[in-house]
Amino acid sequence: MPEIGELDEAQLTDLQKEAMRHAFTVETGPMTALRGDLLKRISVARCPFCGIGESSTLDHYLPKEKHPEFSVFPINLVPSCAVCNTRKRDRILDEGTNVRMFLHPCYDVIPDMAFLAVRARMEADALILSYRLTRPAGMMVQTFQHLRSHFNELDLADRYRRMGLEHLGGQYPALPRAYGAGEDAARVAEKLIEGAEDFEEVSGPNYWLAKLYRALADNNDFCDGGFEAVRVQAQPH
Ligand SMILES: [Zn+2]
Repeated sequence: MPEIGELDEAQLTDLQKEAMRHAFTVETGPMTALRGDLLKRISVARCPFCGIGESSTLDHYLPKEKHPEFSVFPINLVPSCAVCNTRKRDRILDEGTNVRMFLHPCYDVIPDMAFLAVRARMEADALILSYRLTRPAGMMVQTFQHLRSHFNELDLADRYRRMGLEHLGGQYPALPRAYGAGEDAARVAEKLIEGAEDFEEVSGPNYWLAKLYRALADNNDFCDGGFEAVRVQAQPH
């Protein structure tokens, strides 16, 4: 695929551009069928830009305002969550560097070196998470900049932090169960590592929840009863 900065602008009249955008926006029979076809696949149920949200919209990877010629081109339509779609808006190239800001889930090869990191610490009985990217030795600077731009522009550090805490709230009962009456912190860590391995097998080493589970397994304060911090009070019915 040519780099987007190198693409010639399509020679379309304003009327033709409008017609291309209209073909996407208006629910014609073929567009409804294409939309349904793209969104119903189980493999894309989760948003490929963030790995968090449900894919409920079709994002124009190349914005239809700038590239109306790809308005209804299936590989330009990425099933994505509303948060990512909204954050991407009509942006594609970084104004300063002229480099693409977002990864394309099919066309950009995501390196399988570890580049996502999360720090987990206990502070006054609260669990504090901070996600960041780190460049592994051997990763090209340009590849890393591309990953970092995607991560920053989609606000993934904060979204992973919030959803991580939410996820742990849902998983809470498993933690005191592993801890048991014997207060076995090592058993809690073991459970977390098993969980991390399951996530890694399915979603790869940089999956945000795999990283979280490993960070928690490494945190003795968390495993030794600190997990009470993620307990959610049951809502009265
Ligand atoms: Zn998303």
